[in-house]
Amino acid sequence: MRVGVLGCGTVGSSLISLVQRQRATIASRTGLQLEVTRVAVRDVSRPRAVELAPEVLTTDPAAVVADPAVDVVVELMGGLEPARTLVLEALAAGKPVVTANKALLASHGPELFKAAADAGVDLLFEAAVAGGIPFVRPLRESLLGEPVHRVMGIVNGTTNFILTRMTEAGADYAEALAEAQALGYAEADPTADVEGHDAAAKIAIVASIAFGAAVTVDDVVVEGISGITAADIAFAGRHGFAVKLLADAQLTDGDDGPEIAVRVNPVLVPETHPLASVRESFNAVFVQGDAVGDLMFYGRGAGGDPTASAVLGDLVDAAVNLDRGAHASVGALAPARIRPPEEASAARYLSLQAVDQPGVLAAVAGVFGEHGVSIASMEQEGGSADGQARIEFVTHRAVERSLRATLAALEELDVVHSVGSVVQVLTDGGEGA
Ligand code: NAP
Repeated sequence: MRVGVLGCGTVGSSLISLVQRQRATIASRTGLQLEVTRVAVRDVSRPRAVELAPEVLTTDPAAVVADPAVDVVVELMGGLEPARTLVLEALAAGKPVVTANKALLASHGPELFKAAADAGVDLLFEAAVAGGIPFVRPLRESLLGEPVHRVMGIVNGTTNFILTRMTEAGADYAEALAEAQALGYAEADPTADVEGHDAAAKIAIVASIAFGAAVTVDDVVVEGISGITAADIAFAGRHGFAVKLLADAQLTDGDDGPEIAVRVNPVLVPETHPLASVRESFNAVFVQGDAVGDLMFYGRGAGGDPTASAVLGDLVDAAVNLDRGAHASVGALAPARIRPPEEASAARYLSLQAVDQPGVLAAVAGVFGEHGVSIASMEQEGGSADGQARIEFVTHRAVERSLRATLAALEELDVVHSVGSVVQVLTDGGEGA
C-alpha cells in the first residue's frame, strides 16, 4: 500500500518514522506492507527528523495526490488551503485520505464528509480531535448504537497546563503562560489555545460525529481562560472545585425538537468529577450515553509521536478498507439545529469588587432577586485598605439571558466598582458548561 504524505513537520516526520518502525508488525497483522512513496514539503533543503530519499520529496503536494504510485493520502500540512482542495482531489480520485487537520474539518467537515461518501472512500481523522487518544473510532463504531447525549472534555493541553500551574503553584495567569511557553507547551502567540479556538474546532468535529449533524466552528460559543485570575482559582479550591477549560457538546430538548448546544469555556468542575483530576498537558474526553452511562478517554492530546500514533491507526484502517473495497466514512450530515446561547441554563460562579460598607450586600442580592437568579452561596473578602471588598457568588442554575441582565444591572450599581470573572459550574445533571 503506497502512501503519499503531505507535510513532514512535527507530526509528518513522527508518522514516517513510526511507519518504518511498525511496518513488520502491521504486515504480520494485516498482510499489507505500508510504504511511504512521496512526501510533500515547502522547502526540500530543510533538515528533516527522518531520512528520506531525495526522489521521495517534492514541493508540489498536488503531484503527490495525483501520483499513480500513491494509493492513500495523509494530509499533515495544516491550514485550510491548499489542504481542502488537495483532500477533495484525492477523494475524487478514489484515494482514501487520513488527516489530523482540525481547522480544516471544523470549517469544511460537512463538504469533505460528503465528498468521501460520494467517492465511496475513507476520510479518517482520529488525530484531529484529541491527538493520540483513540476516541473518534470508539464514538463512530463502538458507540454507534448508543444514544450519546453529551460529550465534554479537556481537549487543549496548553490551557490545561496553565490552569494546573495556577492551581498547584498558585501562579497567576501571566506567570503560568510564560512557564508554558518556556517549556514548549504554548506557542509564542498563544491566542488560538488560550482563547479557546483550538478546542472549539475540536468540539465542532466531535458534535458532528456524536449527533450526526453538520456542526461547524461558527456554531460554538467560545470563551478562553485569559480572564481567569489567581483569586478565582483560590475560590474554586476552597469550595472543592478545579477550574478547567471544557469543550462541551450536548443534545438538548428544544421547543421544536432536539437542539445541539456546543461551547468552550472555563468551568468549575467538582473535585470528585473524573475530569478534575486531569493534570498538566493531558487531555480527556468524557462521554455520557443513555445505555452505557459515563465513559472517559484519557491521554496525550498533542505532540508528534502521540498524534502520529492516531494517524497511523487510521492509515492502517484506510489501507485495509481499500484492500477490501470497503469504506467507513461519516457520510452526509443532517443540518444542525443549534440552541440559542442565551437559552443555556447553568449554575455560575461570579465575583465583583464593591464598596465595603453596610447595605451593599443587600443591594447586590436584590439585583440577583429582581432578575430571577437565585444565590446558592456567597463569600466576602473585605477590609482592604482602599475600602473595597471582593464578593464572590455561586448561583443556582439560571438561564444565560437572566444572568446577562443581572450582570448589566450590577454594573449600574454605584456601590459596585467592577464585575470580574463569570465562570460556569458543572452540576450533576445540569448543562453546566
Ligand atoms: P508543522 O510542523 O508546521 O508541519 C507542517 C508541514 O507541512 C511541514 O513539513 C511543511 O513543510 C508542510 N507544508 C505546509 N504547507 C505546505 C504547502 N503549501 N506545500 C507543501 N508542504 C507544506 O505542523 P504539525 O504540527 O506537524 O501539524 C500538522 C497537522 O497536524 C496540522 O493540521 C495540526 O493541526 C495537526 N495536529 C498537530 C498536532 C501536534 O501536536 N503538532 C496535534 C494534533 C493535530 P516545511 O517543513 O518545508 O515547512
